Amino acid sequence: MATGKIGVTTENIFPVIKKFLYSDHEIFLRELVANAVDATQKLKTLYSFGDFKGELGEMNVKVTIDKEKGTLTVSDHGIGMDAEDIDKYINQIAFSGAEEFLAKYKDTANSIIGHFGLGFYSAFMVSKKVEIRSLSYKEGAKAVKWTCDGSPEYTMEETDKTERGTDVILYIDDEDKEFLEQARIDTLLKKYCRFLPVPVISGKEQEWKDGKYVDTDKDKVVNATEPLWTKKPTELTDEDYLKFYHELMPGSEDPMFWIHLNVDYPFTLTGILYFPKIKTNFDIQKNRIQLYCNQVFVTDQVEGVVPEFMTLMQGVIDSPDIPLNVSRSYLQADSQVKKISSYITKKLGERLDKMFKDDRKSFEEKWDDIKVFIEYGMLTDEKFYEQAKNFYLLKDVAGAYYTLEEYRKLVESTQTDKDNMVIYLYTTDPKAQFTYVKAAEDKGYNVLVLDGQLDNHIVGLFEQKLEKTRFVRVDSDIPERLIVKNDAKDAGLSPLQTDIMSTVFKSRIPDIEKANFIVTFAALGEKDAPATVTQNEFMRRMKDMAQMQPGAAFYAELPDSYEVIVNTNQSVVKSIIEEATKALEGEVSPVRKEIDSLNEEISKSRKEAEEKKEQAPDLSEKENKVAELRNKENSLITDYAKTQPVVRQIIDLALLQSHLLSGEYLNEFIKRSVDLLK
Ligand code: ADP
Repeated sequence: MATGKIGVTTENIFPVIKKFLYSDHEIFLRELVANAVDATQKLKTLYSFGDFKGELGEMNVKVTIDKEKGTLTVSDHGIGMDAEDIDKYINQIAFSGAEEFLAKYKDTANSIIGHFGLGFYSAFMVSKKVEIRSLSYKEGAKAVKWTCDGSPEYTMEETDKTERGTDVILYIDDEDKEFLEQARIDTLLKKYCRFLPVPVISGKEQEWKDGKYVDTDKDKVVNATEPLWTKKPTELTDEDYLKFYHELMPGSEDPMFWIHLNVDYPFTLTGILYFPKIKTNFDIQKNRIQLYCNQVFVTDQVEGVVPEFMTLMQGVIDSPDIPLNVSRSYLQADSQVKKISSYITKKLGERLDKMFKDDRKSFEEKWDDIKVFIEYGMLTDEKFYEQAKNFYLLKDVAGAYYTLEEYRKLVESTQTDKDNMVIYLYTTDPKAQFTYVKAAEDKGYNVLVLDGQLDNHIVGLFEQKLEKTRFVRVDSDIPERLIVKNDAKDAGLSPLQTDIMSTVFKSRIPDIEKANFIVTFAALGEKDAPATVTQNEFMRRMKDMAQMQPGAAFYAELPDSYEVIVNTNQSVVKSIIEEATKALEGEVSPVRKEIDSLNEEISKSRKEAEEKKEQAPDLSEKENKVAELRNKENSLITDYAKTQPVVRQIIDLALLQSHLLSGEYLNEFIKRSVDLLK
């Protein structure tokens, strides 16, 4: 029997492993099973090349619990190891400064294991003693037994094992007895080993008998050795993909569609990405992509590993180039992983592009559902934007889809304004904004529907990216001014009339919570509405954005600002103007004149004092007088306005059209309408 010291430079590597790797200790099982699977695969390879001429026999990996002995055993029928192999692969842990290294990286235990070939030694995290019994595949090999109790000393001796392969026997620590429970082992195998390429057996299948589950004689295989992503897409049906999806994401609704990735250059990568249905912002659940390395589970914490927008998707990615056994922070920093990530983005872009080109109709059918993914990608990934701009679709109110290029051609001739900007009109709610949509269409304009969760942001992005383009919501102005083609016509009111009419209308606007109104006049068509309420595009977008960003509460709290545009060409408005001028001119005009002359005096005195560099004279008397006269003018006009139910009626109609009239005001409106019918 040979004894020796394991070749680490540090005396006591094991206590260090135990202590620092404690939090991740369950991964020992993944390491041991992965080694066993490797050994099995290696033998299969040798066999296929004719370098191993014996019988392969049953090629599986077994995980067995012996509660009485307190052991957990991982057995395989792979290549096995002879004494020389054990010496080389197990005894010589080839790294120096172990302690220093571990101390430095103690928070990223995973990055040490595997990275430094410590996979096997992770067994010591849960064991007081580890035994290897192995018989190499090599002809004439002698079976060996290696034992180590966690100190750097080991023993190695010949043994009587007759079956080819390796048993790794863990004598589980007292504080880690959980690993002697079949249920616990089942959970771990499910997590790390469910898609390993070699059958992994643990425990027995159970059946329902006499009111409880009991073990049968049948071995329980815990994994699917040929998971869907390893198969050829041409061999698979939709049902296969859906079935696999539900295995991965139990309890989820069917996905919309999926993409099967199969890349072998410049690196090997396979995987299936599913696009789930996303209905609200709250549906967005991240960490639904699982990373595998040769079918061994690595992580499902993929943020920073796959492109940000892909975290909305679900599924699996498998690449031997994804380093196994490393922490997430290490994964994120790994340049190979970064390349993989941008490559997946590219592939995804190409796939979507192909789907669009091959079958535009079915792509359009899916568009409303996949739009949010594509927009997220375009907003967060410059390169993806460049790809996606070719298949991004704009939808109009009639339900027709256009690429960005097609849409430009469609509206360029009709929707270019006097500053050469092409105006893309849109609605966020075709039903609620129906009148505005209709008015714009009547003018020969096309109106887009932008009602998605990210549309607000994408509009901003397009305005930056597309040349000379501006997006304007249909209700942000009257049709004439949505796209200003020549300078607006004069409203045709004298300054006094403008003064009077502004107050007449302003004083009759109901007091609506968190809404500010201004009144303006425009000479529109005789057939156009007497008044229209519009909402400022800029403010509205700011507020919409603010609602999605918790930090921007300031904007969200601001009142909405609306403009009441009164059509001075409309017959009812015309007579209101005439009558009001007649009724008020006589009284208001002298007051107005007095105000004007007082104001002139005030500014003259100020100017003179300024020129002489003197202190300004006391003007408060005159200023008070102006305020008094203003009040007088105001009450003359508002008193008059109160006697004009039609003014209020016109305002209410406009408010009603933009869904701003409700409650008490709506009730008043209905009553007044009935009265006006009399
Ligand atoms: P890694 O797997 O990262 O190389 P390990 O410490 O897990 O590091 O294993 C070291 C080496 O020991 C392996 O590369 C392999 O050659 C050998 N080995 C481990 N387990 C087995 C096994 N069950 N059968 C055959 N060889 C094994």
